[in-house]
Amino acid sequence: MVVCAVELDQLTLELFANLAHHLFEVAQVSVGEDARPVFRDENQVSVKQESAVPASANRVVGGNPNKCTMQTVTADTGRRYRLYPTAEQADRLASWGHTCRWLYNTALEQRQFAWQQRKVSLGASDQCASLTEARKELDWVADLPAQSGQQVLRQLDQAYRNWWNPQHPAGAPARKRKLARLSIPFPGQAIAVRRVNRRWGTVSLPKIGEIKFRWSRPLGGTVRNAVVSFDGVGWHVGFGVHIGIKTPEVHARPDTVVGVDRGAKVALAMSDGRMWNRAFTSSAQERDLARLKSKAGRQETARRKRGAKTSNRTRKIRAEIARAEAKIRNRRRDFVTRAANRLCAQHAVVKLEGLHVKAMTATAKGTVEEPGTNVRQKAGLNRAILDKGWGLFEEALANRARTTGTRIARVPAAFTSQRCSRCGNTARNNRESQATFRCGSCGHQANADVNAAINIRDAAEAAPQLTGRAARDRNHSASCRPPTQHRRRTTLEAGISRRQL
Ligand SMILES: [Zn+2]
Repeated sequence: MVVCAVELDQLTLELFANLAHHLFEVAQVSVGEDARPVFRDENQVSVKQESAVPASANRVVGGNPNKCTMQTVTADTGRRYRLYPTAEQADRLASWGHTCRWLYNTALEQRQFAWQQRKVSLGASDQCASLTEARKELDWVADLPAQSGQQVLRQLDQAYRNWWNPQHPAGAPARKRKLARLSIPFPGQAIAVRRVNRRWGTVSLPKIGEIKFRWSRPLGGTVRNAVVSFDGVGWHVGFGVHIGIKTPEVHARPDTVVGVDRGAKVALAMSDGRMWNRAFTSSAQERDLARLKSKAGRQETARRKRGAKTSNRTRKIRAEIARAEAKIRNRRRDFVTRAANRLCAQHAVVKLEGLHVKAMTATAKGTVEEPGTNVRQKAGLNRAILDKGWGLFEEALANRARTTGTRIARVPAAFTSQRCSRCGNTARNNRESQATFRCGSCGHQANADVNAAINIRDAAEAAPQLTGRAARDRNHSASCRPPTQHRRRTTLEAGISRRQL
């Protein structure tokens, strides 16, 4: 067993060394800082950070040196603020973000490899040693604060736990793509938050020091951790905050029930006749985005043909696309969180039709032997469904319901749009058009979405859905199945076998 561990460790070193050379192009190496922090216990780090932060009078939060209280208090909500780093700080953060992605992907491959070759399940604690080694060998890994590196490994642990959890919808942990959002995690002990004035605050990060952020809303609790990220529009800092949420036993307005129908044309229709909708792009913006995407596609094809590296021009266009898409995402998130807040504040029970957004938006393409039908129409509908943010809305509802005591109930989705809400007559012809509903039996006429919402309000609740792995494969022995190797030969293994030959 010991031999195995040692071998594995050596292997690990090779893995890191092998990967290093072709990863230099990924991470911009920032040279100059030769402070290579020694691997420390978190608490030691916290003590160091404590003393590094000036003992300013209005320091709000940061590391709590008392470890006992720390482990009992966890973040129960998040707060996100726009971060304003200087150009130098932004460069360094970007470089750290790429290092974090590299670390995540490398650690994932190492775990898959260890499992495939030796049936060993590695965890963050096993990989911390490899990380320390990598920090000794590679300056650009050493530049990333040690605590952030360890946090990345813990995130990977969490990704595995989610995958193994039958109730969690997450699939197998996947590699982070190069174009993915940059993000750098920091544990609470490594950071300190200070309020400068009414509008501004600063967060003190290891090695970088204080960065300004716009204090756009109250923190409301103790900061437990932070993630600095770049989403295409700008830099943000998200704090995991402990505010001590207590879900009320009874809603402030008991016995208020609302049915919500989610549609592709009108995003949300309520059983009381309200209809909420918002366009997240104008047609001109859509056209611009499509033009940029086709341009980026053409450039990518040309680049592949030449076998060249990504040009600065392509990079600029990609940044423009990322910016446009991030703006659309922000508008959508704003719409669904506002809608969820209002619904939860006003109603004790919110009823939704039980939808599997993932199953609904699956492609209709089919296979080469068995091509699907109405592929174009289905693709259009999928786009409309995803565009309205149905899944995001459910998440926002569940999140808001924790503070208001609202219960989210699900009802079977079948025939809600074809049934008359007055007499119960169910027929396909009842729905006269997309917008109007006219009952063939009693002549009841209403808006089709509102009629559906009333049906949803009055319907009996469905049995709780199976989620996660339980829904993916009903085979219950699967929940204790160890991670499987999906990609047969990773770049890592290719590198190793080349060396051994
Ligand atoms: Zn009727």
